[in-house]
Amino acid sequence: MSIQVLSEQLASQIAAGEVVERPSSVVKELIENAIDAGATTINIDVRESGQQLVQIADNGAGIPASELETAFLRHATSKLHTSDDLNAIHTLGFRGEALAAIAAVSKITVVSRAEKDTAGTRLELDGGFKTSRDTVGAPQGTVIAVENLFFNTPARLKFLKSTTTEKRLIDEFVTRYALAYPAIRFRLVHNNRITFQTNGSGSLRDVLVAVYGPETARQLLEIDTGKEKHSEEEAVTPSPRHPVTVSGYVGPPSLHWANRSQITLFVNGRWIKDNSLTYAVIQAYHTLLPTGRYPLGIIFITMPAEEVDVNVHPAKTEVRFRHANMIFGAVQKAVRQTLVADSPIRSVGAWTVGSGESASPGWAGALDQTAFSRREDWEHQAGQSHLDLSWPIPAETYPAANVDTNSTPAAPLANLGGSKLPIMRIIGQVGASYIITEGPDGLFLIDQHAAHERILYEQFMAARQNDAVASQGLVAGTAVHLSPSQATLLAENLDMLSQIGFQIELFGPNAFMVRAVPAILAKLDPARALQAIVDDLEQGNTPLEGQIEAKIILRVCKTAAVKAGQTLTTTEMEAMVRQLEACQSPHTCPHGRPTLIHLSVAQLAKEFGRI
Ligand code: ADP
Ligand code: MG
Repeated sequence: MSIQVLSEQLASQIAAGEVVERPSSVVKELIENAIDAGATTINIDVRESGQQLVQIADNGAGIPASELETAFLRHATSKLHTSDDLNAIHTLGFRGEALAAIAAVSKITVVSRAEKDTAGTRLELDGGFKTSRDTVGAPQGTVIAVENLFFNTPARLKFLKSTTTEKRLIDEFVTRYALAYPAIRFRLVHNNRITFQTNGSGSLRDVLVAVYGPETARQLLEIDTGKEKHSEEEAVTPSPRHPVTVSGYVGPPSLHWANRSQITLFVNGRWIKDNSLTYAVIQAYHTLLPTGRYPLGIIFITMPAEEVDVNVHPAKTEVRFRHANMIFGAVQKAVRQTLVADSPIRSVGAWTVGSGESASPGWAGALDQTAFSRREDWEHQAGQSHLDLSWPIPAETYPAANVDTNSTPAAPLANLGGSKLPIMRIIGQVGASYIITEGPDGLFLIDQHAAHERILYEQFMAARQNDAVASQGLVAGTAVHLSPSQATLLAENLDMLSQIGFQIELFGPNAFMVRAVPAILAKLDPARALQAIVDDLEQGNTPLEGQIEAKIILRVCKTAAVKAGQTLTTTEMEAMVRQLEACQSPHTCPHGRPTLIHLSVAQLAKEFGRI
């Protein structure tokens, strides 16, 4: 075939492919146009998941009669005039492509009236060609009906997913934009049935209820960065030069999903896809969620328009940040702080807002002081306990309540102080596995292994942050033999192991001599502990250094923790509960399982038929 310039029609069909991939892209582009036009009401009508009809009506600025045809030309936009404008985009649209692209692959009817026009104009296009134009009576705003999508691009038509998938994608777009614009009243109608609507009250809470239902919405935690105090040297610190704010809502660790679909990100009011920022949210839940489960987050990032490039792809959902690391840090920190500040205790039959309620002023004040003095008692007692629950690190590195934490660098566990648990009285142990306590409102059952894992993990991390991990020398040393591949793995990580308290030397081919172990492992078999660590390293390839260390620390804490089936004395139980009180995230073990469950007085009364 000889080289030829494509016909205008074919060229627009090809270009259209990038902008309108499927019916939901039409919904997205038209909603964005309505938002840019300043609409306060947007009605979306969809038939057969958008394949038959997508109609969007708004009460925005409208398109002047004299410009209506122009709006459907490629690269025609009212939002951008000079190349300087491209450096700081303040509108959702700017490429002037959407209307042309949609028109090229569908039949369009548009009715629009701008404020200054006395009447509306109705225009019909078929495959991008004008078929009629009339003057009609119409309120200010725009109604665009898109029918027979992809009628002239059979290849695209073939690739559409099932109507349920396409419908879900449309729902996703509409709900996302509703979340980002609570002051706009959205209504989505599917095959003549209203499937979603918001009231346009301006309250994000109202939209959360509309999207997630009252039960889930009630549990969501508002991201509160107000508490944040930045120190000068922190890389994540937004400065006057780079002011970045992170707001929105995140789910408590008790809400989790099998995939990342519940993490929604907006930058300056634009919904974006960004793997790295999604990961920042997930990472903020480190050790709080069961493995393989993902949280819910609706994250709004605002920053100066010139700090973000939205002109990356025609669909405008990918962006580039000028300071990507700073944004990553800001998101992760904001989410983490919200979680640390408020995480609920699992209760029997339901979730209670444990810390929320117990944080009432009287309670919290009493709690801090008592927890403190009781801990001193405990430290005294723990020395005499035959099960060594005390932790041999200097007392000043202990993560205590009321500690000034501004000097602590941001780390997986920001040291914010303040106990998340009520004071509890030990009642006893059941099944040699669970500690029963009484709190201000009923009973608590504590999983001794999970709780101890959490305690050791936080203490270990605190010590690690201060380079104060205690190490216990082994008088004779212990020889460990490994398979060649495991030996290589261990040899690669010797340096890092030494930072967390191991001292291991090469001792012949595939053999090592363990000279010291982290102090919490002192009373355990070093060979078995090391073997467990190497087994962990072998499973799942974690390429990141930080992750390897975290994995090893988790294993060390798991190994050192009291097991289920171990009988504890009251003193030991006391010690454990006091230490759990001092934890930042006492409600879950580092793997995300609950450490304690709550049976409230009301629940007891209900169970016994008293109410
Ligand atoms: P872009 O949004 O990138 O400018 P579009 O092709 O989506 O490109 O729209 C072209 C132009 O048509 C817009 O710049 C705007 O002036 C006008 N327009 C489109 N939709 C609307 C609407 N709903 N209300 C008012 N004007 C609109
Ligand atoms: Mg547009």
